[in-house]
Amino acid sequence: DLRVRFAPSPTGMFHVGGARTALFNWALAEQSGGRFVLRIEDTDATRNRPEWTEGIISALDWIGINGTNPVFEGPYFQSAYEPQHREAVAKLLADGKAYHCDCTREALVARTGSEHKGYDGFCRGRGLTEGAVRFRTPDEGVTVVEDLIRGNVEFPNEAQEDFVIARTDGSPLYVLANAVDDITQGITHVVRGEEHLGNAAKQVLLWPALGSTPPVWAHLPVIVNEQRKKLSKRRDKVALEDYRDEGYLAEAMVNYLMLLGWGPGEDREIMPWAEMVPLFKLEDVNSASAFFDEKKLRAFNGEYIRALPLETFEERCAPYLDPAWDRELFSKVAALAQTRIGVLAEIRQNVDFLFLDEPVFDQPSWDKAMKNSPVEILTAYLDRLEVVNWDPESLKEALEEVGVPLGLKLGKTQAPVRVAITGRTVGLPLFESIEVLGRERSMERLWAALA
Ligand code: GLU
Repeated sequence: DLRVRFAPSPTGMFHVGGARTALFNWALAEQSGGRFVLRIEDTDATRNRPEWTEGIISALDWIGINGTNPVFEGPYFQSAYEPQHREAVAKLLADGKAYHCDCTREALVARTGSEHKGYDGFCRGRGLTEGAVRFRTPDEGVTVVEDLIRGNVEFPNEAQEDFVIARTDGSPLYVLANAVDDITQGITHVVRGEEHLGNAAKQVLLWPALGSTPPVWAHLPVIVNEQRKKLSKRRDKVALEDYRDEGYLAEAMVNYLMLLGWGPGEDREIMPWAEMVPLFKLEDVNSASAFFDEKKLRAFNGEYIRALPLETFEERCAPYLDPAWDRELFSKVAALAQTRIGVLAEIRQNVDFLFLDEPVFDQPSWDKAMKNSPVEILTAYLDRLEVVNWDPESLKEALEEVGVPLGLKLGKTQAPVRVAITGRTVGLPLFESIEVLGRERSMERLWAALA
């Protein structure tokens, strides 16, 4: 049976690339009735923090990866398996597949005459019982990583040094611990980021040396930004939590992440998770780098927002609204807002004018809106508002009429009215907004703008 794993290191905010890796593994486990093992690789004590682990678990939960699904197993913590890692080192030593080495870097450089040459195998036959432990790699031929996405990736053994698997103090290295855990946890498919391909070249040797058949390998393409640079936490918005907090819907995020290197075919893009799962195939994953297009993600999110039942939309907006704001009043504009926003956090700036005593003004918007005869427009419109029928159509006609003697079209006359009413130059449809705000409050705002 298929057993996959997701093995994040808790050294920072949970990255969208990690989420993509997790989802691809999750799809494989779900479609096959296999298992998805969550393994927290927490052996780097200097960089790990428990809150990062909690962040990973809660972010995974948000995108639907959690123990309520029977395919989920774990979390396991790599640090708890150190005895197994040490045992594996001891076994490789006992079998002659690894050896101790006490060479310093300086000694190696002096022998090989270069800073860049790999280890020369000096200690292979010395029979030392102390020092770092190196794994004996073949000298000739090639090591092949049979990768489902990249085909056979060849590593000439000449260039593959006898790599270190344990430090002088006996502590095992990551490349070994990672392979030992995969073996212990019965992993059949290792699906992870491309940056681990070099590890695979070592691990494909370690597995048989430890008495196991290597897994199926699949290294996922890197994710790049608009400049085609690898997404990084310094340059790009990469934390899944940030997207969650801004009001991206998990369903939209999941859908978008699945398209980073894969697609359901026939140019289909918007597709719910349940439909994607049976279609997902590692063989169909592209090896070319995948562009993380925030604009496209936003467009996806807008589509998912618009597909929500109105009531659900209102509930999902609630965390972004002030709890003191009247929910009934919000309901009057919710449907309008649902058609316009790209992320839920934007709901606030679209509706706050309804709840605040005075709209939030910003000077540039104000200046921009108050260019064409604002006093004339606002004064004339105020006269109309006293008597006009209180519905969007009549409110609109009245403003059109105000523009006639001034020679201004609706586009121009709307600007000062909009900024007086809402404080902003863009937002919900203006006449519906005025309707909901009511006669008295709307007139007050136009007076205030004239003052
Ligand atoms: N802990 C590694 C990482 O976060 C993953 C290693 C693996 O998947 O084998 O990059």
